[in-house]
Amino acid sequence: MTYPHVQLLIDNQWRAARAQATIAVHNPATGEVIGSVARAGIADLDDALAAAARGFEVWRNTPAIKRGEVMRTAAKLLRERTDTIARLMTLEQGKPLAESKGEITMAADIIEWFADEGRRVYGRIVPPRAMNVQQMVLKEPIGPVAAFTPWNFPINQVVRKLCGALATGCSMIVKAAEETPASPAELVRVFVDAGLPPGVVGLVYGDPAEISNYLIPHPVIRKITFTGSTPVGKQLAALAGQHMKRATMELGGHAPVIVAADANIAHAVKTIAGAKFRNAGQVCISPTRFLVEEPVREEFVAGFLKYVQGLKVGSGLEASSVMGPLANPRRLAAMQQITADAVARGATVAAGGERIGTVGNFFAPTLLLDAPLDSSVFNNEPFGPMAAVRSFKNLDDAIAEANRLPFGLSAYAFTSSIKTAHQLSARVQTGMLWINQQAAPWAELPFGGVKDSGYGSEGGPEALEAYLVTKTVAMTSV
Ligand code: NAD
Repeated sequence: MTYPHVQLLIDNQWRAARAQATIAVHNPATGEVIGSVARAGIADLDDALAAAARGFEVWRNTPAIKRGEVMRTAAKLLRERTDTIARLMTLEQGKPLAESKGEITMAADIIEWFADEGRRVYGRIVPPRAMNVQQMVLKEPIGPVAAFTPWNFPINQVVRKLCGALATGCSMIVKAAEETPASPAELVRVFVDAGLPPGVVGLVYGDPAEISNYLIPHPVIRKITFTGSTPVGKQLAALAGQHMKRATMELGGHAPVIVAADANIAHAVKTIAGAKFRNAGQVCISPTRFLVEEPVREEFVAGFLKYVQGLKVGSGLEASSVMGPLANPRRLAAMQQITADAVARGATVAAGGERIGTVGNFFAPTLLLDAPLDSSVFNNEPFGPMAAVRSFKNLDDAIAEANRLPFGLSAYAFTSSIKTAHQLSARVQTGMLWINQQAAPWAELPFGGVKDSGYGSEGGPEALEAYLVTKTVAMTSV
């Protein structure tokens, strides 16, 4: 499939924007324009809102078991189309084909899990205080939802939100990322092809601020869900608050990695170095602040450096590439700025630290040693292929550093001591803690952060709860 001119989906019709406006899409490996995406205006959003309101009435009145059947068919179609969609994702986002395929397979698994979990949305009967009374707690879908998703996982960021909505009977308008529009469009297409009724899902692209400013206050929309940076998340949450809309916020992180002296260092290096450079580090749960206990620091750094030096960077379409380009030139500029800041403050660049070539957004996998705590890399989410190592003397110091930042999305630790593992699980302020393993955010596990990393969850039963409202009904026979 050649890269398409991506359209809007409104009322199950794929169509151009009414004003025929489009936005160019670039290949981050070459900088070339590869296609375009329709740019919705207010008239298109009005169409999408009207369709979502109609779609909600149909879908909420569809039994959960039927909803699950449509979702399962969608998952099957997605699996069948993996290779084609993976190519589109790599073309627009840059990640290696193997990662694109992995993301799509994971998305199919997520759809299947939610399809089943939708059948287990239970209310409850509460024992009454008089025997002629019955008290029920009902769970109902909240209503049409507006979802805003970023470019780093073009499918995965949509599928978790969409499945929470679909499994509970909500409709959803997705504003996916303009920089990576084709793969989320193919995700939505499998649901339409699987028989999702018109209006249950809408897909729009355009000016992010214009769309969020219009959709969030709109009376049709009952909930919003956003994945992206903390500053934008705070703006959207404030707008949602003004209009009393429920919100789920999956925002930035700055994951600490605590490596204790008693850890299996070879295992730690292998596990965490691979995780660091996945998707060129453009991952909200990417390991970033490496805190290594003094006696094992040298061994850890040597192992990490060896991994970095053997890492093949290249176009995601080449089978040998383990890391692709950054998704957009903004990230390239950010990597250069963060490196320069660290060096100016006395850090050592043990590997990388510079752009590769002049074509595409390639940046060398970077290892910074001893950047001070006030350097940018130790405070601002790099969201790129950059690891920064400092050593620590005792566990209390490591935990204090892990908790120092306002973020709390993901954290990692390596230790063979159950006592240390217990301390960490009790004291690290984070939404997710992975000990002796890389992140494995399966659909059945809650996924979300604390502090400035946001609120709400996109996995586990909590992910369905986010799309439900509670109604108490009490009845007395007279
Ligand atoms: P950004 O803050 O400009 O945008 C982040 C995302 O929010 C994009 O998808 C963008 O389209 C969207 N957005 C921006 N303004 C919006 C608005 N007013 N209404 C609705 N959506 C809006 O940053 P960026 O340069 O695209 O990405 C860089 C930063 O974003 C990273 O440093 C990282 O912190 C964060 N980010 C986080 C995730 C994540 O998975 N949590 C994903 C992508 C980006």
